Amino acid sequence: MVELGSDLVVVGAGIVGLSHALHAVRAGLRVTVVERDERAVGASVRNFGHICTTAQAGEVLELAEAAREEWLRLGAEAALPILEHGTVVVARTGAQARLLEEFAAERGDAVRPLTSRAAGELLGFAPPGIAAAAHLPADLRVDPLTASARIAAHLEGLGVVFRWRTNVLALEPGLVSTTRGTIRTARTVVAVGHDVDRFFPDVADEHRLVRCRLRMLEVDAPAGAVPPAVLTGTSMLRYDGLSQQPSAADVRAELLAGSPALLEQGVNLMLTQRPDGRLVIGDTHHSAVTEDPFEDETSDALVLAEMERLFGAPLTVRRRWRGVYASSPKAPFLVTEPIPGVTVASVTTGIGMTTALGLAKRTLAGLLVTT
Ligand SMILES: Cc1cc2nc3c(=O)[nH]c(=O)nc-3n(C[C@H](O)[C@H](O)[C@H](O)COP(=O)(O)OP(=O)(O)OC[C@H]3O[C@@H](n4cnc5c(N)ncnc54)[C@H](O)[C@@H]3O)c2cc1C
Repeated sequence: MVELGSDLVVVGAGIVGLSHALHAVRAGLRVTVVERDERAVGASVRNFGHICTTAQAGEVLELAEAAREEWLRLGAEAALPILEHGTVVVARTGAQARLLEEFAAERGDAVRPLTSRAAGELLGFAPPGIAAAAHLPADLRVDPLTASARIAAHLEGLGVVFRWRTNVLALEPGLVSTTRGTIRTARTVVAVGHDVDRFFPDVADEHRLVRCRLRMLEVDAPAGAVPPAVLTGTSMLRYDGLSQQPSAADVRAELLAGSPALLEQGVNLMLTQRPDGRLVIGDTHHSAVTEDPFEDETSDALVLAEMERLFGAPLTVRRRWRGVYASSPKAPFLVTEPIPGVTVASVTTGIGMTTALGLAKRTLAGLLVTT
């Protein structure tokens, strides 16, 4: 069966696919989204929901700022709650405190230094042993468990057609073959996250694409409301805006000397709060082309112990899960056209919630010019 009539087929209903569908339907295109599962259950629902704008740098910061505006617009249009409490970055050593001073000096009002008392008031709890902190007021937060479904429902309302439980098998110029027939289309955007190699192994090889596997936990909140997202010293090595500061080398050296397991397990100790009050805490990072099916118990134990140290209180785990995202050492984004009319779009740094809405706008603008 050949289905007629799409200007654009998007493969994948994660945040990258939905972002492309949104900008395309706003541009007046007839859009079909094809998703292999009955609802999105990939990286886009397994994350912190942290729109981590301020800690980015360069091109990524530009796209993140564009995406931030789009989240606010989408929030209003799709009745999607967008939390505007920002992020608090907690420093627990002298080097971490110096790094925050450097960041604040570079960014002006976007980074507001906090006394430990003011940090405690914003956080809703007082981390013991805090050396300094900073508030990044522009950062946003969404609930990843509900955001994708809400955006998909909004897109359906705008006329986007969704084909759920439909696996895309093959792509050719103008044709998308699926388990439920073939769709004719002028253009295709392939937004399959870490599975680019399933369609285009050469593209994945060229970009040295690997699967980055993360461990996440959900715990009861020991201290009630924690309105902002919370980043810590390990986060200072992960986001370019922070890791490019002069004191980052000292932060790394301190961690290497005092807590090498945090670096070995690729820990980025951070948290966000769910609407029901539970805290999402994490995370660890392990990369390979094919993800290891086994979980090492030491990863979760390490994250839990560090988070208990941050709260100065024991935590009760309620749920655990794994998330996987695409990662490339070459560039933060992969956008390429391996065959005519078929564009692959993947965020390759673990910041798709922060950037996808901006990346898709830029990618679509390029495609519309050439269509
Ligand atoms: C644990 C974790 C925490 C994170 N925290 C954050 C955060 O707080 N902030 C942030 O900015 N980023 C965060 N990220 C990164 C972010 O979640 C990802 O960058 C983003 O979700 C990737 O979106 P995506 O649409 O490319 O992938 P996915 O959400 O994985 O979507 C890809 C979709 O394609 C579908 N698909 C694949 N193959 C086919 C096929 N053949 N046919 C049909 N459909 C197919 C899949 O079923 C899936 O639904 C985190 C990631 C993880 C894993």
